[in-house]
Amino acid sequence: MSAQPFVVLDGIAKRWKGALGVQDICLTIEEGSFVALLGPSGCGKSTTLRLLAGLETPDEGRIMIDGADVTHRPASARNLSMVFQSYALFPHLSVAENVMFGMKVRRVPKAERLRSLHRAMEITGLLGFEDRKPNELSGGQRQRVALARAIVAGQRLCLMDEPLSNLDAKLRHAVRKDIKKLQQDLGITVVYVTHDQTEAMSMADKVVLMRDGEIQQIGTPEQLYSQPENTFAAEFVGAPPMALIDGAALPGFSDGHTIGVRAENIVLAETGQGDLQCRVTDCEFLGAETFIGLQHPQARGLTLKVAGLKNIPAGQVIDIVLARETLLSFDKEGRKIPQG
Ligand code: ADP
Ligand code: MG
Repeated sequence: MSAQPFVVLDGIAKRWKGALGVQDICLTIEEGSFVALLGPSGCGKSTTLRLLAGLETPDEGRIMIDGADVTHRPASARNLSMVFQSYALFPHLSVAENVMFGMKVRRVPKAERLRSLHRAMEITGLLGFEDRKPNELSGGQRQRVALARAIVAGQRLCLMDEPLSNLDAKLRHAVRKDIKKLQQDLGITVVYVTHDQTEAMSMADKVVLMRDGEIQQIGTPEQLYSQPENTFAAEFVGAPPMALIDGAALPGFSDGHTIGVRAENIVLAETGQGDLQCRVTDCEFLGAETFIGLQHPQARGLTLKVAGLKNIPAGQVIDIVLARETLLSFDKEGRKIPQG
């Protein structure tokens, strides 16, 4: 392993006519890792990826790949493959020709090309579609061709921008696992853009959470889930999100602070014996468990998780207890207060 990270984004900023794209982007990526850029629409994920790809040039900062400063190198000289939201396929070439195009350019022997093609078709569920033209495919199938092409490109760094957004839920789940397995098998480095926290949390070694053009938190999925740096991270990550409660509503906590609690750390209490008295808003049965939505005037996002099927009528008042040792405190600006 080299001493220096495989990819470095050092103080990157990009503006359009003064309007902010991204700023203060500092990120290191280890070779062979899977990094997800996560955040709501418009937060700067695609801009960051396009800067790394060489499709945009930063106004500030430096980009290093494999020890070389590539800040001013074009995309073609960065040794990476890409899968973007808008799949760019050659319309006059078949699926197989599109996928093998890069390998042909690189003069990869035919037997190896066909082997890689077969593997990529298998992984993306496109076996049998080799001879079709792009206009004979659905949007989701075209996106899978683009994915297959990136898989066989043979680069050590692969950039993906919401590659699964055109697939239906079931296929998305399956291809998600395939991409992850492939990344591990091939030992390649993937930078993956998504607005879907489930995707980021389930695939990435490292999640980079963004908002309004800036990084909010970088960490493992576990760190983002249980130690969110701020209330934005607390509410963006996890399903359900972390509940946030005004400190004034809880004995032993100061007002002005916000208290964060995960659903699994909330339990039903005897009437009058709980920390908070809430009103049931809805019950969502998910098979193995039921999420019970709760309303309290000084809290938001309160959800109680119970095993199996549970039906409590909306409007019913219940008492809940919060597992004290799991609670997080945030200051007035929403930043996590370090625990002593
Ligand atoms: P995301 O991928 O997270 O949805 P983007 O990176 O596409 O967000 O966009 C970040 C911000 O930069 C948005 O405010 C967007 O409108 C702006 N932006 C992106 N590309 C351009 C461009 N080519 N010209 C002007 N503004 C842009
Ligand atoms: Mg985008």
